[in-house]
Formats: sequence, C-alpha cells, structure tokens
Amino acid sequence: MINREPDFNKAEKGLLPAIIQDATTKNVLMLGYMNPEAYQITLETGKVTFFSRSRNKIWTKGEESGNFLYLTEAKVDCDNDTLLIKVQPKGPVCHMGTDNCWGEANLQKYGFLSELERCIDDRRKGSATNSYIRGLFDKGINSIAQKVGEEAVEMIIEAKDTNDQLFLNESADLLFHYLILLQAKGFQLQDVVNILEKRKK
Ligand code: AMP
Ligand code: ZN
Ligand code: ZN
Ligand code: ZN
Repeated sequence: MINREPDFNKAEKGLLPAIIQDATTKNVLMLGYMNPEAYQITLETGKVTFFSRSRNKIWTKGEESGNFLYLTEAKVDCDNDTLLIKVQPKGPVCHMGTDNCWGEANLQKYGFLSELERCIDDRRKGSATNSYIRGLFDKGINSIAQKVGEEAVEMIIEAKDTNDQLFLNESADLLFHYLILLQAKGFQLQDVVNILEKRKK
C-alpha cells in the first residue's frame, strides 16, 4: 500500500482542501482547508482541525458548539494535493444547524434499509386502508410477532434445501417483517445496532 503524504508545496496559500466525509453513511459533510499544523493536530488529537481563512487562525471544528468531527481516517489523493477526511460527526456539522453544509440531512445510515424504515413509518401513519403494512400495524404486535415467527420458519425450511433463490426470498420476508416488528415496539434498526456495537470486543 502506498502511504501518501500531503504535499503542502502544492497548497494554495499554504492550504490544502479537506473534504469531510461521514465514515458510515459516506455522505459529504463539509469542505475545509488545512495547513501542516491543522493536519498535524487533526492526526494527533483525533478531532478534525482546519485553518479558518475568515478568522485567519487554527480552528478545531466544534470548539464552541461541541459538534466535533471525530477522525476515522485521513487519506491523500492521487497527486497529494487534496485530503479526504473520514469522520464520525457529533451533532450537526453546519453552523446553520443542518447535518451537512449544503442543507442536507445525513439520514441514510443503513442505505436502502433506512429508506425502508421510513417507508414503513409513512405507511403506519398514513391513511391508506389498502396498505399491507398498515394492515399489519392495525392487527397489533402479537400478530406481527407471529408473522415474524412464520417467516423465520419458512426461512429455516428453505435453508435446508438447495434452492438459493427461495432461501433469499424468505430471508427478505423475514427482514421486512422484523423491521415492522421493531417499529411496532417503538424501536429502530439503530437501537439493535447500538447493542451489537457495545458487544464488539
Ligand atoms: P464550531 O467550530 O462548530 O464550534 O463553530 C464555531 C464557528 O465556526 C461558528 O460560529 C461558525 O462561524 C463557524 N463554523 C462552524 N461550523 C462551520 C461549517 N461547517 N462551515 C463553516 N463555518 C463553520
Ligand atoms: Zn489531486
Ligand atoms: Zn456550513
Ligand atoms: Zn415468506
């Protein structure tokens, strides 16, 4: 692996652009500039630090707001003149209060599963009487839990067989109904992930 070093000789007025990316969602959060000192502080403290062009001084993002950017990985691009800084943000990144500096929300933590969770929530709150999801919520938690059990059994049966497509389809059914059960209990995927992360050694 090539271990690149940023080339501050290529920097405009001593500053290299630093693209800030959410390490989990991969969303772009903001753009800042770093001089050698800011880069050094970022690597040493694990808190992303820029050189503020407007205030003409070193600036640790979050020093006033508490909304720090915790460093996951710092990468240098192909010709050593642009930084990619992967972070775990604490709180909104933009001082305007949004998750990124382009006014966007940083929601898609679990990709399509996050979309599906929102769809389930919409159906639950919506008035559509012909919605399958809405119908499940109307039947209540016991009925939804029962359905998860049935899908699990179907998946077990297909796991014993050699038809991969049937196994995958039943797995999808199980995951879908499991997400519905979580929401019926007032939880989200994130609540389960939190527990799994705590178990990680
Ligand atoms: P903070 O570093 O979050 O404590 O914010 C301190 C000050 O830096 C704010 O009052 C803003 O002027 C500025 N600031 C904070 N976040 C950003 C950002 N994402 N982009 C540009 N300026 C920012
Ligand atoms: Zn480049
Ligand atoms: Zn901003
Ligand atoms: Zn099924």
